[in-house]
Amino acid sequence: MAGTDVLVTCRDAALTFGRGPTAVVAVHGANLSITPGDRLAIVGPSGSGKSSLLHLLAGLERPTSGTVTWPHLDGPDDIGLVFQADSLVPALDVAENTALPLVLAGHPETQTHHPVTEALGLVGAAALAERLPEEISGGQAQRVAVARVLAQQPGLILADEPTGRLDHATGARVLDTLLTAAERTGAALVVTTHDPAVAARLTTRRAMRDGRLLAPEDAS
Ligand code: ADP
Ligand code: MG
Repeated sequence: MAGTDVLVTCRDAALTFGRGPTAVVAVHGANLSITPGDRLAIVGPSGSGKSSLLHLLAGLERPTSGTVTWPHLDGPDDIGLVFQADSLVPALDVAENTALPLVLAGHPETQTHHPVTEALGLVGAAALAERLPEEISGGQAQRVAVARVLAQQPGLILADEPTGRLDHATGARVLDTLLTAAERTGAALVVTTHDPAVAARLTTRRAMRDGRLLAPEDAS
């Protein structure tokens, strides 16, 4: 690998929750590098460690052993994470939630209106802009979580089962939107899924089983 433009690298990165006899090894020594233009699906059943690996790539969790490094990212603001679970701030409306990464990165609120409106439009959620999270469905919240990352335009998009709570047609559209956005901005895209049909839409696939990231040739 050239190594010059690697966005994130895991070397023997492991993540263990808890200690002693009750410890759970969520990720066993994973080795993985993501470069610009990558479209990677991480595929595995529930509990196989997909979210844990994504959180390592995002810097949300520190590896228990091994290393995770970001040689060519412009700081934490350059990573966008679509969380698997509910991640909208209850007190903020949909537009404010979508603007949050931009506001936190220091952009004046007057400059967030355009990217937020565009991103909500891309996921078909423009009409929800003024609703609170408690006033929208789980599937709608998932689309807003995707919009939030689209508005942010990071160099690395990490999406944790972004279609998990959507019907097939809506899920396909959200995936289209993520792929198009990554194409347009030149971002790398990593998507976790347990759905082989979703995984098939990405360029490459890596399988996870029981916390182990399998070699590329073992991905199905
Ligand atoms: P997946 O996303 O593939 O469903 P996870 O990464 O969520 O898998 O979980 C992998 C393993 O780690 C599971 O056994 C899960 O129960 C465990 N795990 C995940 N998060 C925690 C946590 N915060 N504390 C303890 N165990 C956890
Ligand atoms: Mg998960």
